[in-house]
Amino acid sequence: MDNFPLADFLCQRFDLPVELDNDGTLAALAEYHYGSGQNTERLVTVTVGTGLGAGLVVDGHAQRPVRGCIGDPGHIIVEPDSPWRCGLGCQGCLETVASSLAVEREAIALAKQFPDSKLARLSAPGNAVSTAQVIDAAHQGDQLARDVLAEVGRWLGIGLTSWSYFFDPDLILIGGGVSAAGEFLLASIRETIRERALPAYANHIQVGLAQLGNDAGLIGAASLFLYRYPEE
Ligand SMILES: [Zn+2]
Repeated sequence: MDNFPLADFLCQRFDLPVELDNDGTLAALAEYHYGSGQNTERLVTVTVGTGLGAGLVVDGHAQRPVRGCIGDPGHIIVEPDSPWRCGLGCQGCLETVASSLAVEREAIALAKQFPDSKLARLSAPGNAVSTAQVIDAAHQGDQLARDVLAEVGRWLGIGLTSWSYFFDPDLILIGGGVSAAGEFLLASIRETIRERALPAYANHIQVGLAQLGNDAGLIGAASLFLYRYPEE
């Protein structure tokens, strides 16, 4: 697919307008137009799954300053000497500590340490622990599961604090599979930003949950056309 003119190709095939865009940007647009980011001046959305997707909408306009999107802020390095690498191979980037992979890795580590825990029962030999299971356990009152999510939230808060110096968001919306943790994640994110970000930034940053789930990218893609070709 390198340098293949996909949009032109599809446009000719279907005789319809075609746009290519970044999934993080589209999720941000969707939340701005139809989700929990409406009327926000500076909106950042973060999709926390196996990786970290991100988008920025300012005054209703999606921002694409770097390679057609806002770059790859999920790969900022937060632990330079980390033993962990993300799926793309960076050592110690934010994704290594603030993604579903981190939730699962930390859950398995704690399960080994506390063999009588619920997490240990979930990860009985041969069982992988999924992020959804850890979140379920947290909702059912399991403290270790809550600790895992709070730690991932703390790392997200550290990453988002750094992001805030570039994007200066009024609202940060958290989406993706890990966001099903709700307050177990958000409380820790908010606390970390409050403690660590410079007041000029921290004072106006709200953190909430994205609303449109896995459909955000699709809805954002549709919104490109509704706003660009309103008469069609
Ligand atoms: Zn990375």
